[in-house]
Amino acid sequence: MESPLIDPFARAITYLRVSVTDRCDFRCVYCMSENMTFLPKKDLLTLEELDRMCSNFVRLGVEKLRITGGEPLVRRGIMTFFDAMSRHLESGALKELTLTTNGSQLEKYASDLYAAGVRRINVSLDTLDDEKFAEITRWGRLPQVMRGIDAAQRAGMRVKINTVALAGFNEVELFTLQAWCASRDIDLTFIEVMPMGDIGNEDRITQYWSLKDLRARLEERFTVSDLADNTGGPARYIRLEETGQKIGLITPLSHNFCESCNRVRITCTGEIYTCLGQEGHSDLRGPLRASSDDAQLEIAIRAAIGLKPKGHDFDYSRQTAAGQVSRHMSHTGG
Ligand code: SAM
Ligand code: SF4
Repeated sequence: MESPLIDPFARAITYLRVSVTDRCDFRCVYCMSENMTFLPKKDLLTLEELDRMCSNFVRLGVEKLRITGGEPLVRRGIMTFFDAMSRHLESGALKELTLTTNGSQLEKYASDLYAAGVRRINVSLDTLDDEKFAEITRWGRLPQVMRGIDAAQRAGMRVKINTVALAGFNEVELFTLQAWCASRDIDLTFIEVMPMGDIGNEDRITQYWSLKDLRARLEERFTVSDLADNTGGPARYIRLEETGQKIGLITPLSHNFCESCNRVRITCTGEIYTCLGQEGHSDLRGPLRASSDDAQLEIAIRAAIGLKPKGHDFDYSRQTAAGQVSRHMSHTGG
């Protein structure tokens, strides 16, 4: 038996999020600037390297693997990687293989993803209005994403919508989004906007719409109860008693979820970030490429987990984005 990955604060690391590309076919205003410079291909982990990396984490106790990006489904050959990961589901070592996607390629890949063992996916969708969708994603088109969501549901996958709460943008759609998700038996989670990367002149503080406020709006119309579900991450869940709907609230800025944090992230270049809100990271690509033996990689993984910080420093309270981290979300993977 391998000894599991336990960090200095006695948290077992069982959840790995892996960014497989920094590229994307959208340019969401809170995530990227319009003219992004992407990494040279040689810096990215190859699909074989991604397999080795993830398989080592699974060997060391990771039970849940979430694939993200950039847009994971624009990475060439990505289905080969999903197919390869399904062996860990079959062996029982991995309990869940999942992904976060903008939905643009789902029409094409939904049934292949299901065949690889993906049963739940997160689709990011901030508005149900065609024009506003084009505005927020710059390059995205809503009908394409809708066809993707249809295909995912047809294939048998459970869909969760992730909506970034944006002041003055989708505040007016709160109940439209909630009702649309209820009508399609889709889960819904709202995310507070986080201060990530240099994305041009968007002002993230004015974009910030507190989920406390969002919840209060829901309470005007529904009986809202807190649920005890805790996934070890920043999401808290509430239920709307009248519809039975469960709604997630991800509040990385206004809540401290760090004490139960069970996750680490790998960037598309093989860096490990043990905290989304901190700059601290270690390189795993070097040890991975240095030898075909996994011993060096395991030492590097354990050393990185040994440096996992207790928590993050995001703080909007003084109306400055204190604790801001300089990398883009598309680099670390959201
Ligand atoms: N391209 C995929 C997608 O959009 O779902 C996966 C990567 S994307 C970086 C992952 C999630 O991060 C998306 O739900 C997106 O809305 C969210 N995100 C990006 N930038 C963010 C920010 N500054 N604050 C909060 N969430 C952000
Ligand atoms: Fe692309 Fe996702 Fe970032 Fe939007 S949030 S630009 S879809 S990576």
